[in-house]
Amino acid sequence: TEELLRKSEMLSAVGQLAAGIAHEIRNPLTALKGFTKLMGSGGQHGNYLSIMADELERIEEIVGELLVLAKPQAVDFLPKSVPSILHDVIMLLETQAIISKVTIETDIEDELPLASCVENQLKQVFINVLKNGVEAMPGGGTFLVKAEKSERGSIRISFIDQGCGIPETKLAKLGQPFYTTKNKGTGLGLMVSYKIIENHRGSMTITSKEGFGTTVVIELPAVP
Ligand code: ADP
Ligand code: MG
Repeated sequence: TEELLRKSEMLSAVGQLAAGIAHEIRNPLTALKGFTKLMGSGGQHGNYLSIMADELERIEEIVGELLVLAKPQAVDFLPKSVPSILHDVIMLLETQAIISKVTIETDIEDELPLASCVENQLKQVFINVLKNGVEAMPGGGTFLVKAEKSERGSIRISFIDQGCGIPETKLAKLGQPFYTTKNKGTGLGLMVSYKIIENHRGSMTITSKEGFGTTVVIELPAVP
């Protein structure tokens, strides 16, 4: 237990540091992005400028993910409806799903208890998990999102995709910073998601079968 505690303390210190640096990088980054845009893409160096814009976008994505690790400063945990957050997020990703021929099906109980949460952080987790599912199904398929009350009274959200799956040998790597198998991946989505769910005193479990699909189950304590 002591070892575990030490590890978790260190992780949180590293998270704080990463978030601090991310915060400092954001302002100069915004300036660079603005000027790159101003220079336009028509001129002699148009090609370079558009590559610069793409790469700056990528830095911004990484910085954005790391910022979530910052200690919630004066953010309030408020009782919120998980189904309504889920519906919002699914709507955000609908276009990407349609392009990939992925049908998102839902099986969401209406009578769920509320969850005490930081809404934007929970949204971020759901977006990360949904995106991963869609990205795992380049050939299309059905992606099921379920929300129910567990036997223990907690709120259980399941994301069940029919994607490429994850080889058993790689399961342990999920959530390690910068672990990605994608060309344009950041490898930060799951790390940040684990951290957020931990801050919410919940749990996130990933099971997978290579070639068949992946299931991500998130459990959150219900507001009494
Ligand atoms: P990224 O999506 O930027 O690669 P993540 O932290 O979100 O970073 O995911 C890390 C890796 O975990 C992915 O690159 C992928 O290999 C694997 N992964 C996550 N979710 C799924 C999924 N639903 N199906 C298959 N592989 C997944
Ligand atoms: Mg991802």
